[in-house]
Amino acid sequence: MAKRVLVSGGAGYIGSHVTVELIAAGYDVVVADNMSNCDMTCFEGVRKITGRDDIPFEQIDCCDAAAVEKLFTDYQIDAVIHFAAFKAVGESVAKPIMYYRNNLVSFLNILESAGRHGGCNVLFSSSATVYGEAEDLPVTEKTPRLPATSPYGNTKQMCEDILRDVVAATASSQGVIKGIALRYFNPIGAHPSALIGELPRGVPNNLVPFITQTAIGKRECLSIFGNDYPTEDGTCLRDYIDIVDLAKAHVAAVSRMLDGKMKEGYEIFNIGTGRPVSVYELVTAFEKVNGLKLNYRFVDRRPGDVMAIWADTSLANEELGWKAERTVEETLASAWAWEKHLAGK
Ligand code: UDP
Repeated sequence: MAKRVLVSGGAGYIGSHVTVELIAAGYDVVVADNMSNCDMTCFEGVRKITGRDDIPFEQIDCCDAAAVEKLFTDYQIDAVIHFAAFKAVGESVAKPIMYYRNNLVSFLNILESAGRHGGCNVLFSSSATVYGEAEDLPVTEKTPRLPATSPYGNTKQMCEDILRDVVAATASSQGVIKGIALRYFNPIGAHPSALIGELPRGVPNNLVPFITQTAIGKRECLSIFGNDYPTEDGTCLRDYIDIVDLAKAHVAAVSRMLDGKMKEGYEIFNIGTGRPVSVYELVTAFEKVNGLKLNYRFVDRRPGDVMAIWADTSLANEELGWKAERTVEETLASAWAWEKHLAGK
């Protein structure tokens, strides 16, 4: 029988791409989402791409302990991929209680029910934000984490630590929890079908949705935050990872857990390309690959931005047998195709 993976937050941007790849790899999936930050667009897209209209979907809030418990009672769950979380850095600074409550309680509920139901394999979606402004680049998984600069970033660090501690505590119990934290760099792009992609509510905070919305005419002008950084062209450097490549890393990590290939009960992997790309380079590449001109201007630095961060991906390459494959051009073309799909063009 196929193993079943619970994808919490599975109707969102990353969760929907991961659901597609899990199904392609032969896993059964149950998607749980409270729909607080998305509509059914991506889940409908997942159904179309996979040709499966029988994927179980449970509209629940993972902060509701009884609802999570019911999920584990109703389904035999072999692994969980936990995406259900708030993710806006600025909003987390304004509403720390909301962020701590949502992001921590939902994860605690998952872990508690997982333990109660005989143990589980838990994959936590973490972020390169845990490294902060790292001194040595690229960062490896051993690069020390720096104190978080936002409640959002803090919840990522805290959930990593919670998972580590729960793994240690359950190692010799009835309900063994094994855990992997994937630290994502900057996920961008959309599925090649253009049926699923990023769907920001309101004004996008992230670079690529802002680029595509400017190109389609929803936004007047892209602001490039800072061109006076000590980098080659003065703009920040990031490691932009294609969303489908990122989704495949989840399948590799889940298989590692389910196939008993883990070397430790709790493992961490960087998920990026290993290549730094500047904001200016990305904007220029977008213009070139899609044959259009983008309205942009340089403005002041954005508070809280680090100058540069990119991944050493050797551990993921070696241990997960995974590596980023799509070029940044392909990814930017997919982001544009998705924006046009949304606009009905
Ligand atoms: N950025 C920008 N204009 C925007 C949004 C982002 O110049 O409208 C820059 C931002 O300063 C950073 C990079 O794009 O250098 C990536 O930002 P994003 O918010 O997408 O991800 P982050 O790296 O902050 O998680």
